[in-house]
Amino acid sequence: MLNMSNNKTKMPEQDPQIRVHNFDESATGYTEQMAIREAMRCLKCRKHPCMTAGCPVHNHIPEFIEKITEGDFEGAYQVLSLTTGLPAVCGRVCPQYLQCEGNCVRAKKGQAVAIGALERFVADYHRQHAGSDAASAPEKNGKKVAVIGSGPAGIACAGDLAAGGFEVTIFEKEEILGGVLAYGIPSFRLPKEILASEIEGLKNKGVKFETGKEVGKDISLEELKSKEGFDAVFVCNGAGKAMALGVPGSDLEGVVSALDVLADVNVSGKLPEYKQIAIVGGGNVAMDACRAAVRFPNAEKVYVVYRRSQAEMPADPAEVSEAVAEGVEFMYLTAPLEVVGEAGKVTGLKCIKNSLSDPDESGRRRPVAIPGSEFVLPVDCVIEAIGSGSDNAALGGITLSDKKGLIVVNEDLSTSMDGVFAGGDTVTGPKTVIAAMGAGKKAAASIASYLIG
Ligand SMILES: Cc1cc2nc3c(=O)[nH]c(=O)nc-3n(C[C@H](O)[C@H](O)[C@H](O)COP(=O)(O)OP(=O)(O)OC[C@H]3O[C@@H](n4cnc5c(N)ncnc54)[C@H](O)[C@@H]3O)c2cc1C
Repeated sequence: MLNMSNNKTKMPEQDPQIRVHNFDESATGYTEQMAIREAMRCLKCRKHPCMTAGCPVHNHIPEFIEKITEGDFEGAYQVLSLTTGLPAVCGRVCPQYLQCEGNCVRAKKGQAVAIGALERFVADYHRQHAGSDAASAPEKNGKKVAVIGSGPAGIACAGDLAAGGFEVTIFEKEEILGGVLAYGIPSFRLPKEILASEIEGLKNKGVKFETGKEVGKDISLEELKSKEGFDAVFVCNGAGKAMALGVPGSDLEGVVSALDVLADVNVSGKLPEYKQIAIVGGGNVAMDACRAAVRFPNAEKVYVVYRRSQAEMPADPAEVSEAVAEGVEFMYLTAPLEVVGEAGKVTGLKCIKNSLSDPDESGRRRPVAIPGSEFVLPVDCVIEAIGSGSDNAALGGITLSDKKGLIVVNEDLSTSMDGVFAGGDTVTGPKTVIAAMGAGKKAAASIASYLIG
C-alpha cells in the first residue's frame, strides 16, 4: 500500500532547549512503525534516480526500502551491505538533500522519501538485533596492502580488500580510529559507539590496525613496500590541515581552529570556557563548531559570521535550522577584518558588512565590502572554520598538485609511485564521507586488478 503523504515522516528529536545542555544525539531515530510508514512513500519508480544518479556508491535504494515495507529489516540491511560498509554513519551524515533525496521522484511534488533516515533505521536495527557481524574472513590470496589513514576512504577500501582475501593493515597517526568521523563530527550528530561498531566489523574481517604511526614520519611510503613487504599502498590521509583567517590579531589567545576545538570536544570531552564565540565560515565544519559552541558550559552568545548571504552558504540547510533552533545567531553578509584584544586575549572581532555583486568563478555572487559599515562584535573567542588542506610533502616521492599540495592521481587512482594509490580528501580536497568511501571502493578494485589482474 502506498503512503500518499507529501511530507516525510518526521523523525523525533530532543527539544532544542534540552539538547543544548548535552552531547547526546539530537535526532532520536524512527520506530519500526515510522520506518514502514515512510518506506511506503516510495513510488518504486522505474528509473530509480536516487540510486543511479544520486548515490555515489549506488546503494540499492528501492530494494532496501521495499524490504522495510515488508517488515524485513534485516533483509534491508543485507541489501545495503552489498554496497556500503558504513550505513549507520551515512544514514546520519550524508548530504542526502544533494544526493539520493535530491534525485527522488517524490520530491517533484512534496518532500522526497526520507532515504537517509531509513538507512539509519535499518543499520541501527541490525546493530541492536543481530549484534556484530560474524567473522567471515575469506581465504587469503597472499597479497599485503597498507592503507594510510582510517577515515571513511580507508575504512571502505580496507573492507573491500579484506573481503577479497587481501591482508590489510591500516596505519593511523592518531590513537583513535575513524578520521573525521571520530574527531571531527560531534556526537550529537554521530554517536561514537556507532563508529566503534563499524570499526569492529572491519576487525572481524581480519583488518589489522597500527595506531600512533605517522607515515612520512615514523615510516616512509617506500619502506612500507621495501621493508614491510606490502605489495600495494592506498594513501587516504585526508585534508586535516586547517586554513587560518590571516587577519591582524589572529595570534591572540582565543583564536582557534574549528578542527582543533572539535577534536578536543570529541576526543577528550574537554569543553572550553568561552562566553561569547564567533565562528567564521559557512560550511558544515562551521555548523558543527557553532552547535558545539552553544553546548560550552559558559556559552552566552554564539555567532556565525559569513561573508555572503544564506543562499550562497554551503552548509546543509537542515543543519542551519538546527543551529538556529539551538540559539546560534547568523550574521550574513559580514566579513572579519581584524581580531581585537587586550593583554594578549581576544575581546572582539572587527567586521565589515558586505553587499553582493556578480557571480565569481565558483558561480556564487561575489561579496563587496560596504565602506563605513565596520563594527566590533564583542567576543572572547574566534573559531576559524574557513576550510582545510592536505599536508603531503612529508610523504615524499609522490607527485602533488602545485597549488594545494593534493595528491595527483590517474583515472584508476594510481599515483606517480608504482603500487601506490590515493583517494578521498587528500586527492579532492575537503568533500564528503560518501565521496571518500566511493574513492576507497574504487581504489580497492584498482589495487585488486593491479595485484592479481
Ligand atoms: C567537522 C567536519 C564535519 C563534517 N561533516 C560532514 C558531514 O556531515 N557529511 C559529510 O558527508 N562529510 C562531512 N565532512 C567531510 C568528511 O568528513 C570528509 O570528506 C571525509 O572524512 C574524508 O574522508 P577521508 O577518509 O579522505 O579522510 P579523513 O576522514 O580526514 O581521514 C584521514 C585519516 O588519515 C590520518 N592521517 C593523516 N595523515 C596521516 C599519516 N601521515 N599517517 C597515518 N595516518 C594519517 C588522519 O589522522 C585521519 O584519521 C565533515 C568534515 C569535518 C572536518
